[in-house]
Amino acid sequence: MATTPQTATRTEPTQSPLQELARRHLWMHFTRMGAYDEDHEIPILVRGEGSYVWDEHGRRYIDGLSALFCVNIGHGRAELGEAAARQAEELAFYTNWSYAHPRGIELAARIAALAPGDLNRVFFTSGGSEAVESAWKLVRAYHRQRGEGMRTKLIAREIAYHGTSLGALAATGITDLRTPFEPLTPGGCHVPNTNSYRWPADRDPLWAAEAIEERILFEGPETVGAVILEPVQNAGGCFPPQEGYFQRVREICDRHGVLLISDEVICSWGRLGHHFGCDRYGYRPDLITTAKGLTSAYVPMGALIVSDAVAEPFMDGKAMFTHGFTFGGHPVAAAVAMANLDVFEREDLCGHVRAKEPEFRAMLEGLRDLPIVGDVRGAGFFQAIELVKDHETKESFDDDESEQLLRGFLSGELYRRGLICRADDRGDPVIQLAPPLVADSEQFEEIEAILRSVLTEAWERIVRSDRGARRPAPGTARRSPA
Ligand code: PLP
Repeated sequence: MATTPQTATRTEPTQSPLQELARRHLWMHFTRMGAYDEDHEIPILVRGEGSYVWDEHGRRYIDGLSALFCVNIGHGRAELGEAAARQAEELAFYTNWSYAHPRGIELAARIAALAPGDLNRVFFTSGGSEAVESAWKLVRAYHRQRGEGMRTKLIAREIAYHGTSLGALAATGITDLRTPFEPLTPGGCHVPNTNSYRWPADRDPLWAAEAIEERILFEGPETVGAVILEPVQNAGGCFPPQEGYFQRVREICDRHGVLLISDEVICSWGRLGHHFGCDRYGYRPDLITTAKGLTSAYVPMGALIVSDAVAEPFMDGKAMFTHGFTFGGHPVAAAVAMANLDVFEREDLCGHVRAKEPEFRAMLEGLRDLPIVGDVRGAGFFQAIELVKDHETKESFDDDESEQLLRGFLSGELYRRGLICRADDRGDPVIQLAPPLVADSEQFEEIEAILRSVLTEAWERIVRSDRGARRPAPGTARRSPA
């Protein structure tokens, strides 16, 4: 299984100096660099405005992924750049190591006021992996401070993505991302996720929550430090929780002295229609990890938000959380985050997402008449379509078919027709959509039109190739039918 989308599109040969320089010197993340040559252009994006970006040829794309779930307020907001410039002039940088500066303090207080309950303490990072890494280290340090130093393990879910640094990677539950770098940080354990698409009809809806307790008991509760969960799991294709899932997980964590981390690197800052995903589902974590939408990615920034109870052992006497990053809480990033949150408030972006979610979702549900569309799921402006070979049996594609479908056709073709979204198979093949939170009916209609025509063509190609070759035996499918 490949793990990420690839947008190499066959193009007319291009001699653009940027293409040549990029092919020669730039190492793109999670990218098969070899896919790009004189006949296959690297997508070079040069400008953005609202829900749209433009490439070096002046072609316009609807950004159906907010540049990797990031640019929540939309592209091209000059005021964020102005806030950065003002801050650079006033005080470009001072570190948070033993020093503070006004924007960092103001931002910490603002985040604490928006965060639920007693999550009042903010530890800044430069991104999501650093936030997850910091969370796990704090969990270990917290338990040790309380005389429970054996509580080192972190329980996460299968197929979940929590980042790529060696600690965060141990929480990530995607085998192909983990194995090349093993041995990872010890202590990462995994439990089933909440993808119920192929669950037997009579399965207890809280089965996945109960699996967490089983795992805690199996590991030995005195060795488990925390459970880390996204409000809606991204990898695998936007798995929402079952009704009551997080409430049950909270009970289980409390019963066993285990902390609950809500990894909201994607699900915070309006993505689900609330400042925090945990607000949408009504649960109270002990720690929240966030990044991406905190600054709408105009500059990099992440944060770990910690409850007073978890922070308390580090706030007295000589106690210290012996951990930090030079750039955590960078003043320019903090100023940009403040300006970003001003936009959220002024335009009520959370309210907009809540108001428009039904329309966005209905548009995607409308695609169910296409034979390739098996499931539609997600929350807020964070939705996925699962692609199947057969509606009735929910039969999925095997690895080769998925490779052909996603990287051989869909990723490139959607891009070519002007839609950036994610065609991915870290679980079963899905298309993910997460437009900027300013997107509206006009953008939904554009997305629908492109998806409909490209998915229709994808299905025709499958039917044609099935006629040319015998269909694989059912047992070779990636997932067996329900
Ligand atoms: N956690 C979650 C839930 C994520 O979605 C991501 C990235 O997408 C990360 C952590 C890692 O964040 P970053 O790529 O900023 O390191």
